[in-house]
Amino acid sequence: EKRAKTREMQPATYTIDNRRIRLLANINLLSEIQLARELKVEGIGLYRTEFPFLIRSNFPSEDEQYLIYKGLFDKTEPGTVTTVRTLDAGGDKVIKHTDFIQEANPALGLRSIRFSLKHRHIFRAQIRAILRAAHGREKVRLMFPLISSIDEFLTAKQVMAQCIHQMEQEGVPHKNDPEVGMMVELPSVLATIDEFAQLADFFSIGTNDFIQYMLGADRGNELVAEHYISYHPAVNCGIAKIAAAAIRHDIDVSVCGEMAHDPDHIPFLIGVGITTLSVDPKFLPRVQATVMRTNFSRASAYARLLLKQTRVKDAAEVLKTGPGK
Ligand code: PEP
Ligand code: MG
Repeated sequence: EKRAKTREMQPATYTIDNRRIRLLANINLLSEIQLARELKVEGIGLYRTEFPFLIRSNFPSEDEQYLIYKGLFDKTEPGTVTTVRTLDAGGDKVIKHTDFIQEANPALGLRSIRFSLKHRHIFRAQIRAILRAAHGREKVRLMFPLISSIDEFLTAKQVMAQCIHQMEQEGVPHKNDPEVGMMVELPSVLATIDEFAQLADFFSIGTNDFIQYMLGADRGNELVAEHYISYHPAVNCGIAKIAAAAIRHDIDVSVCGEMAHDPDHIPFLIGVGITTLSVDPKFLPRVQATVMRTNFSRASAYARLLLKQTRVKDAAEVLKTGPGK
């Protein structure tokens, strides 16, 4: 009963035909939380943990990280969801401490969850710090980035379970039942997406990387910007498939990439069944306005039409026309 009350107090956004869409914030720095709260966000859908460490020359200790994550939880409204992503080092996020890694293809290299699983002590310290800081909090979500296989996801979950076991033995206060989810950023997970949906508590689609890896076009390279097509039929089809699997297995599915704040894309995302959008706080008012003028049943028909397109130019045409009023 207490839960229901808390939920009522939270702001909610609905489509014209009353489908509830949850709007969450992407946070890079703790200082951004204030704006998100002023704009009445429902929680945090992505806290990027690498940002405080970008310019440091060594990794912060477990205790130093604990203080940072404690600051995160202290600044967010109790009862709201807080999604903490484990280190997503490498690729476009170059952490000074890891610049000893020299690779010809950093985007395809030892980055993100791969880095964490290779350097277990760093991974464990981070998980322990997050769960210690989350002690006593509800709705804490731990999220692993760049998952490429079921095996990798299970290994990451196992490391978390070991951390919890260890903290129990040591009598260290911590959160022992976070929701554990994954970012969907690699096309490789599509083949076994149903099994992922059974193992994960939630999905969050990182469209920035998903498009990059689906189309083989660097997300930050202007020279191939014309090949980085957010409405490419393969991207649309992938997103629809991920959403459908999440719906079948009754887990939350959000989009936290740049696509989530684009008014041209929001009707498609809602139409395929995405229920949560996580965006940079500055985009919240625009996203809220877009959701409020979207009609879910129209958006579903529109999504089906967009999914029928096999050519980029036809998809572009459908996108330009929009779902109609
Ligand atoms: C993404 O890839 O879409 C995402 C949200 O993560 P990041 O931009 O931090 O890589
Ligand atoms: Mg990403």
